[in-house]
Amino acid sequence: MSGARRRVVVVGAGFGGLETAKALADEPVDVVVIDKRNHHCFQPLLYQVATAALSPADIAWPIRGILRGQANATVLMAEVETIDPQARIVRAGGRAIPYDDLVLATGATHSYFGHPEWAQVAPGLKSIEDATALRRAILLAFERAELSDDPAERERLLTFAIVGGGPTGVELAGAIAEVARQALPREFRRIDPREARVVLLEAGPRLLPSFPENLARYAERALARMGVDVAVRTRVVDCRPGAVETVGADGEPGRVPAETIVWAAGVRASPAGRWVAAETDPAGRIRVGPDLSVGGRPEIFAIGDTAAATDDEGRPVPGIAPAAKQMGRYVASVVAARARGRAPPAPFAYRHHGDLATIGRRAAVVKLDRLELKGALGWWFWGFAHVYYLIGLRNRLIVAVQWLWNYLTYQRGARLIVGAAADDAARR
Ligand SMILES: Cc1cc2nc3c(=O)[nH]c(=O)nc-3n(C[C@H](O)[C@H](O)[C@H](O)COP(=O)(O)OP(=O)(O)OC[C@H]3O[C@@H](n4cnc5c(N)ncnc54)[C@H](O)[C@@H]3O)c2cc1C
Repeated sequence: MSGARRRVVVVGAGFGGLETAKALADEPVDVVVIDKRNHHCFQPLLYQVATAALSPADIAWPIRGILRGQANATVLMAEVETIDPQARIVRAGGRAIPYDDLVLATGATHSYFGHPEWAQVAPGLKSIEDATALRRAILLAFERAELSDDPAERERLLTFAIVGGGPTGVELAGAIAEVARQALPREFRRIDPREARVVLLEAGPRLLPSFPENLARYAERALARMGVDVAVRTRVVDCRPGAVETVGADGEPGRVPAETIVWAAGVRASPAGRWVAAETDPAGRIRVGPDLSVGGRPEIFAIGDTAAATDDEGRPVPGIAPAAKQMGRYVASVVAARARGRAPPAPFAYRHHGDLATIGRRAAVVKLDRLELKGALGWWFWGFAHVYYLIGLRNRLIVAVQWLWNYLTYQRGARLIVGAAADDAARR
């Protein structure tokens, strides 16, 4: 490694960090990518792992493998604990890693609106670990209902409450309903899985707030057809083992007895802002300047879900994968200009290409500039777009074949209950 080359440390190999690293492949810099996991995860399809349509390896790739051919990139699997911005050092895995430029791309986590204790009862979906834990919980609920003789217990076991009516909540609700109504019915003898209840709770006036109202209404109708109970204007006030407590628009308290509660309601940025004592917004995202650098520190950048950036009209850049990738590419261009002694690029300008969400078999909503799609057309578009954005030909083929198989057979092949909960069930 030449001493004259700038060293760029990228923390986080999600959509943003990976894009930065890859865009620097041909630049005269050394890139160090640090991630606490050994894999990059395609979060938009996590719900498919959670509902047994896909396996973890279909939507996650070893970071080393992705950057194998990039000679100027080094991958370190370590959790960053602190950063010393004065000394320009990142501390991770017991090592001090120096940097000239630092890119913070550590994403976001769940926000429980001041109730961290709900996390135990209502886990969210952010990682492969979360997805396999949720898959286990969903499949175990059916197994335990089959063992139960108590009708009230069976009902609770077969009720799935999802908190939050954004794309993740909608996709999960639809997918769990499909597991219950299409994949499982002929396999149980003492229960009818079709009697499972899926309840989607949303505090706002409608589902999918980032979509036009007509598409959100369509999604609500499609979910209702699939047997999902959609409750809008319903605020969750408590999550405890076996039940969600709610308050409706009229102040009426409610209760949903449910064994499985899933949190899809809020996000909070990673603690990266604290590491560099940066100014953050109420969600903990680092407020960045027009070149995505952190106030007063031109050598530190924040991108993706951990950054609070605005577009050229001052609107917040959304926390979605294309935004993280655009920010990643942009920061790479700033760093490359510095390394080559060139003038910096124009300020970051976010381009929103659209929003997509799937509801279930042959039902999805798509909004691209002026184009709106729904139903089967939207669903096919959604499927092709997601296959296209997966990394590598192998995964594209595997996922396309899996989906075709699931479509033709109504089956879900990855229905494995593994881990501690399987032992719990056996002991019951
Ligand atoms: C369930 C779900 C569904 C989604 N669906 C869509 C969708 O359909 N379309 C869409 O565009 N977007 C979707 N998103 C949002 C999208 O995935 C995020 O906006 C995107 O992942 C943000 O990229 P990022 O690089 O900022 O962070 P991430 O992709 O989250 O990557 C962060 C990385 O940082 C690493 N990391 C975190 N902390 C540390 C640390 N202390 N030390 C070392 N490494 C660390 C993590 O391991 C991770 O690899 C979805 C998100 C979720 C959770």
